[in-house]
Amino acid sequence: MEQNRRTFLRLAVGAGLTPLLAACATSHQPRTTGRPVMIPPEPTDGFELPPEVRDWTPRGGTLAGAVGAIPRSRWAQADPIASRMNKLGSVQRITVHHEGMTRVEFTGISQVADRLDLVRRSHLQRMAAGDIGYHFVIDRAGRIWEGRPIEYQGAHVKYHNRRNLGVMVMGNFDVQSPSDAQMTSLEMFLRTARTHYDVAIDDVFTHQELGPTACPGRSLQRHMVEIRRDGTLA
Ligand SMILES: [Zn+2]
Repeated sequence: MEQNRRTFLRLAVGAGLTPLLAACATSHQPRTTGRPVMIPPEPTDGFELPPEVRDWTPRGGTLAGAVGAIPRSRWAQADPIASRMNKLGSVQRITVHHEGMTRVEFTGISQVADRLDLVRRSHLQRMAAGDIGYHFVIDRAGRIWEGRPIEYQGAHVKYHNRRNLGVMVMGNFDVQSPSDAQMTSLEMFLRTARTHYDVAIDDVFTHQELGPTACPGRSLQRHMVEIRRDGTLA
């Protein structure tokens, strides 16, 4: 446990971040209760996508294509380690997470890309994972990013990864709320993924509904309860 924590701290410090230590994937650990450390405001490059992202053609027939996800190759600094992963097979449920580290306000493409790779490296080191644990990530601007290739089972809910599609919303929703753009994208993503894999609303979970964790944070948990009940995901 302590080893995991030190590993993440070292990675985060190396990346210029001073993190909270309650990252989602190890949130079965006792949560830290200290005041969250703010990431200083950073310049953003707004919503203007660089050409390699803007001109990317969604792959027909895949969920990534259907939701217009930015490809993994845009951010990941290394290939997945296939030998550490199982195949996902057919998706039967979907689980929503938050990142659960520091508060997130940044929206710049390069900042998001760097953060995703930090999460990937922390999952590799802490959990001996083969890649970032989630299949998709939604940044603060509402962009959807491809995470672990969908052919592989994720590593996002202890004991419940089998046939479970993982989507992480960037931020810590115990200390902030999801942005409107994030909620709009998450709702679209969940509707599209439900249709794509024929997953019932009752099989759309949050992390804390499957295991002892604060993930996805109080605010996103409230939103999730609401949008499953009010027909938004129908
Ligand atoms: Zn989680």
